[in-house]
Amino acid sequence: MSVEPTIAKTTSDFIRTAVREDLASGRFTYVRTRFPPEPNGYLHIGHAKAMAVDFEIAREFGGTCNLRFDDTNPTKEEQEYVDAIIEDVRWLGYRWHELRFASDYFEQLYEYAVKLIKKGKAYVCDLSPEEIREYRGTLTQPGRESPWRNRSVEENLDLFARMRAGEFPEGSRTLRAKIDMASGNINMRDPVMYRIIYASHHRTGTKWCIYPTYDFAHGQSDSIEGITHSLCSLEYEDHRPLYEWFLRELEIFAPRQIEFARLNLSYTVLSKRKLLQLVKEGHVRGWDDPRMPTLRGLRRRGYTPSAIRDFCARIGVAKADSVVDIAMLEHSLRDELNKSAPRVMAVLRPLRVVIENYPAEQTELLEAINNPEDPAAGVRHVPFGRVLYIEQDDFMENPPPKFYRLAPGREVRLRYGYFIKCVGVVKDAAGNVVELRCTYDPATRGGSAPDGRKVKATIHWVSAAHALPIEARLYDHLFTRPDPDNVAEGESFLDYLNPKSLEVVQGFAEPSVAGSPVGKHYQFERLGYFVVDPDTTPEQLVFNRAVGLKDGWAKASAQG
Ligand code: ATP
Ligand code: MG
Repeated sequence: MSVEPTIAKTTSDFIRTAVREDLASGRFTYVRTRFPPEPNGYLHIGHAKAMAVDFEIAREFGGTCNLRFDDTNPTKEEQEYVDAIIEDVRWLGYRWHELRFASDYFEQLYEYAVKLIKKGKAYVCDLSPEEIREYRGTLTQPGRESPWRNRSVEENLDLFARMRAGEFPEGSRTLRAKIDMASGNINMRDPVMYRIIYASHHRTGTKWCIYPTYDFAHGQSDSIEGITHSLCSLEYEDHRPLYEWFLRELEIFAPRQIEFARLNLSYTVLSKRKLLQLVKEGHVRGWDDPRMPTLRGLRRRGYTPSAIRDFCARIGVAKADSVVDIAMLEHSLRDELNKSAPRVMAVLRPLRVVIENYPAEQTELLEAINNPEDPAAGVRHVPFGRVLYIEQDDFMENPPPKFYRLAPGREVRLRYGYFIKCVGVVKDAAGNVVELRCTYDPATRGGSAPDGRKVKATIHWVSAAHALPIEARLYDHLFTRPDPDNVAEGESFLDYLNPKSLEVVQGFAEPSVAGSPVGKHYQFERLGYFVVDPDTTPEQLVFNRAVGLKDGWAKASAQG
C-alpha cells in the first residue's frame, strides 16, 4: 500500500519548503527523518527543538521518524543514558518508527570502509593524533599530506584488518579518507574514519577495538535506514561536503542533509558537557534538578510535554543562530496551566492572624471557585476559623502611600471570605510583628459589604486549624547573566552561577491539597503555579514553583 504524502499546509519554513521541493521533483518519493542523540548525557530543551523538527516534519508529510542512537564513542557513552533518552522521548510524546543504533551497523560500516580502501579512497595512517592535528593546517594554511598517504591498497587492507584484530596499540594508527589536504574546508583534509579504542561498548562489548568517527558513521547510517532528510544543527554545515563525499564514493542511497540553528536559551546553558559539569561538581542536585534545562529537570519543575511542544512550535526553525528569551518558555507553560491548573490558597511566609470577634470553637466552609478559566472545574469549600495565616508581605506596620493591603486600622477583603480590619499587633522581644489582632464583619461574607463600603485589596489566607504544612521551593534563573556561554577569556560559566537560584520556604496550604500525587499542578493564588515534587513524604508535601504569575514574555512582546 502506498501512502500519499500529506503536504503540510500550516507551517512553512526553509526545511519544509525543501522537503516539498524534493517530493515535487521526485528526488524522494517519501519522507523519513531520524532523531540521532549520542547517549552521553540527558536530553535538554535544545533536543526538544530538534525532535520537534524531526518528528513533526515526518508526521506532516505522512512519513516516519527513527530514533537512532549515535553510539560510536564507547568512552563517553552509557546504557544509563540510552534508557533515560528513550524515556524522555516518550514522555515528550514522540513515537518513533524504528529504534536503531549506529552500533547495529558496525559490520556494514567496516565493509564500506574496505570498499573505499579498494577504490584507493582511504588509507591507514601511522601519524599520532597530535601529528594529524599538526599536518591538518589551519583556516589560512593548507595541510600537508601524510607520509603514509600513498600506501598500496593491499597494504592498507592488511593493516586495516589488523587494526580490527587488535594488533596495534590505541592511538597508533587511523583509517583516513583520501580527499584533499589543500581543501578550503578543513573537514575535507583527509578526515579520520576509524580510530583504535580499547574500551568496552555498552552494546557491542569488546567485539570491536576500532570505532567509526561521527563523520563516517552518520551519513552511512542515514543511508542504511533510507532516511530522506537528515536534519541537524548548524555546526554540521561544514561537514555536509564530507557527508556527501562518502555517499557518492560508496555509491549508496544519498539522503539530504539540511542544517538549522541550534536553540540557545537565555540564563542557561545547553551543552551536555556543561550540564554534566554542573551535576558532577554538585552545583545542582542532579540531572533532574528543577533548575536544569534538561527534559527531566523541566518535568520535575512542572513543565508538561504539551507546554514544551508548544514552545518549540512557537520558536520554529531558522537558519541563523539566536538566543531565545527564557521568558518565552515560561510563557508557554503559564498559558497552559492558566487553563488547566486548579486554584488553591497557600501561604509561603506565614504571619498569624487572630480574629478577636470570631468565636473560638467555630469553623465554617466558604465556597471557592476552582478555576475561573474552566467553569466545569466547579467549586470547593475552604475551612475558615478564628486563627489564620496570611503572607507577611501582605501586612505593613507603617505602609508607604501605595501599599493598600493590611496595616493597623485598615480593612481588607479575605479571598472568598470576609472583610477584616487590623486592630493591633503582637511583637516579639526583638520588635518583630509576630501576630496580628483583627476583627471581622460578619455581614461581608462572600466578599462585599451591604453598606457598599469598599476595600482596596484582597488577600489570600489559610485557616491555621486546618492548615497543611508544606515546603515550597522557589526558583530563579540558574545563571546571573543572560549569556553564560559568552564569558570573557579566563572566566568560566560557573563564575556566573546564581547563588539565589533556589529558595526553600516552609508554609501552609489549604487542606484540599492533601494527598496530591507527584506531578499534580496547582495555582497557588497570587503566588504562581506549583507542582508536587517527588521529595514529598506522607508527612509533608513538597512543591516546586514551576512558574510565577507575571508574564515577562507577553509584556515584553506587547511593548516591542
Ligand atoms: P550537546 O552539545 O549538548 O552535547 P549534541 O549536538 O552533541 O549536543 P546530540 O546528542 O549529538 O547532542 O544531539 C542529537 C540531535 O539534537 C542532533 O541532531 C543535534 O543537532 C540536536 N541538538 C542538540 N542540541 C541542540 C540545540 N541546542 N538546538 C537544536 N538542536 C540540538
Ligand atoms: Mg553530538
